[in-house]
Amino acid sequence: AERIERVRSLITSIEGFPKPGITFRDIFPVMRDPAVFADCMALLTEHVRDLKQPIDAVVGLDARGFIFGIVLAQQLGVSFVPIRKAGKLPGETIQVSYTLEYGSATFEVQKDALQAAQKVIIIDDLLATGGTMAAACKLIKQLECDIVECVVVIELTDLKGRDKLTDKIFSLTTYS
Ligand code: 5GP
Repeated sequence: AERIERVRSLITSIEGFPKPGITFRDIFPVMRDPAVFADCMALLTEHVRDLKQPIDAVVGLDARGFIFGIVLAQQLGVSFVPIRKAGKLPGETIQVSYTLEYGSATFEVQKDALQAAQKVIIIDDLLATGGTMAAACKLIKQLECDIVECVVVIELTDLKGRDKLTDKIFSLTTYS
């Protein structure tokens, strides 16, 4: 509980970013403090270990999900696999398109990064409307992998992103 409070104390709220009316939760200040970032990663790692399920890979979402994902994967001793915005990954990829508030976007993963029936954790920094995480889940299911759990550091509960997901979702901390 103390560790979560230390993490929360460094998450800042920026009014009007990226546009008027939106309050942006900034998680980068957590990374400026190595002890608090270590607390954050320890909490996430302990949570995943406590699931007591075999994990083959941690899948991180472009771009802040890479930061949490790579550390989590290292601590668990499993693969790290990035899901990126379209056009960034070399080799054979599979794609999923998803709608955002304005227009749409495409997510991509390397085909040889995961094998069917592998057990994965998907991680991102924040769950808002859930569109991003839902798209990532769809992509991972196209590779016939099993999603053990979706993990985020922050969940914005008012946006009900959780309701958009069919897989289990864990958030370290919530804001309304
Ligand atoms: P969603 O698809 O759930 O609406 O949006 C989640 C995605 O947008 C995540 O990849 C997250 O990084 C980004 N995002 C949306 N709002 C915020 C915010 O307030 N703070 C941060 N750090 N990321 C946000």
